[in-house]
Amino acid sequence: MLKDRSVIVTGSTSGIGLGIARAFAAQGTHVVLNGFGKAEEIEQIRAEIARTHGVKVLYDPADMSKPEQVRGLARLTAEVFGHVDIIVNNAGVQHVAPIESFPDEKWDAIVAINLSSAYHLIKAVVPGMKARGFGRIINVASAHGLTASPFKSAYVAAKHGLIGLSKTVALEVANDGITCNTICPGYVKTPLVEQQIADQAKAHGISPEQVVRDVMLSHQARKAFVQVEELAALAVFLATDQAASMTGSAIAMDGGWTLH
Ligand code: NAD
Repeated sequence: MLKDRSVIVTGSTSGIGLGIARAFAAQGTHVVLNGFGKAEEIEQIRAEIARTHGVKVLYDPADMSKPEQVRGLARLTAEVFGHVDIIVNNAGVQHVAPIESFPDEKWDAIVAINLSSAYHLIKAVVPGMKARGFGRIINVASAHGLTASPFKSAYVAAKHGLIGLSKTVALEVANDGITCNTICPGYVKTPLVEQQIADQAKAHGISPEQVVRDVMLSHQARKAFVQVEELAALAVFLATDQAASMTGSAIAMDGGWTLH
């Protein structure tokens, strides 16, 4: 069902995006990797995924904060694979600071990478998806797309915005064989979160273990990090024919965080 389809996963050189890219490759889907990192490490990952799963794997270093590069990513994928069947808008960054001192350039970057890039990529691929009568748009928001925490104004605003964008697109493409859904993870131990653990330990003068227990997982009813593989399996399911009636959903996979 997903064999020989193509998927673009933004921000897939690490963390959740890389897990999603691997999970699609395991289904026989050709993959476009995107994100930053050391060229030789990315090439190793690219070659390893292609070899393990016998699929084509491209890498495009497009900076998701640059609309022209986002459109270039869509163009390259269509040129090489002939079509873009699935996109996963996953690239994201975080910055934690009180509103009064929130750096303007961080606000702009977070909104550009976590929200506007999804708009530009969706806009670029929808015409082709409509023409073929099939498409799957999967956005990675956060529990912070459904609820808020202090000091994360830009992130929470962008993730709420992503869910709004997703619902609107879902309505517009509902009769074209295209679905658009958002996954809302709780805390996942990726490089993005490792950095936050270190930053918060410093800011609060507490140990990394205390940050995990008392700050991060305090809201997650299930006192454990969400696993990348769990999120990847959900993304794959959303791309299948069995998920054709699921659209416009914001699906929490957050260990019960947003139940409060
Ligand atoms: P990560 O830092 O491990 O990975 C982020 C990826 O985005 C990397 O590949 C990075 O190179 C890429 N990226 C960053 N800026 C980019 C840019 N300008 N252009 C292109 N790529 C760029 O982070 P992660 O934890 O895997 O996060 C992935 C997504 O999941 C993000 O949208 C994040 O907000 C969301 N999320 C993460 C968690 C968590 O606990 N880790 C929870 C909820 C939601």
